[in-house]
Amino acid sequence: MIIIFLGPPGAGKGTQCKVLVDRYRLRHLSSGDCLRRERENDTDLGRRAQSFMDSGRLVPDELIVSMMIKEMENVNGKAGLVLDGFPRTLGQARELDKALRQVGKKIDAVLNLQVDDKELEQRITGRRSCPACGAAYHITFNRPQKEGLCDSDGAALVQRSDDTRGVVRQRIKTYHQQTAPLIAYYKQKNILHQLDGNTEIEKVTAQMCRLVDQLAVD
Ligand SMILES: [Zn+2]
Repeated sequence: MIIIFLGPPGAGKGTQCKVLVDRYRLRHLSSGDCLRRERENDTDLGRRAQSFMDSGRLVPDELIVSMMIKEMENVNGKAGLVLDGFPRTLGQARELDKALRQVGKKIDAVLNLQVDDKELEQRITGRRSCPACGAAYHITFNRPQKEGLCDSDGAALVQRSDDTRGVVRQRIKTYHQQTAPLIAYYKQKNILHQLDGNTEIEKVTAQMCRLVDQLAVD
């Protein structure tokens, strides 16, 4: 089983992916982790990717796809996969389909975790963390006992610079621009499934598991 997991920043994709991996014994493959590993191991692919990044250019689709395919081949036997953060563009999606066809495989489902932009903004801009111990807080959903201070050590909480409103809006906008063609592509192939992420974590998990149980039966 190969599942693609799509979702904007702040949607809770990481949490749900983890449930998916644990519950269905799938392997989690993220393009970010994969890229990091290739660079750390100083492979040919890693060096090529690095040269694009050093010059401030995007790593080309073809290179990302080669890297992910190599990673997918390393996963032995019948283990299913969850692809996270990949494919990111329509070009990558097409290349992935081509590569899978060659090895007689296909994508079984694409899960699209949807959360309203306003809600995403509130979730992300409210995040705070403690610079001393790393504890995470939220100004609405997980407030410290004393405003702005860490419960365990009293340090002043900080906000990540890319969690500020302007940056968050831009991140969300970029996400929609990149993924809209991807969503249309998978919809047309009849493998797109929507998950409503505007609700509690447990409810999202329940929706997701019903869907995946159904896939496993088919
Ligand atoms: Zn602390």
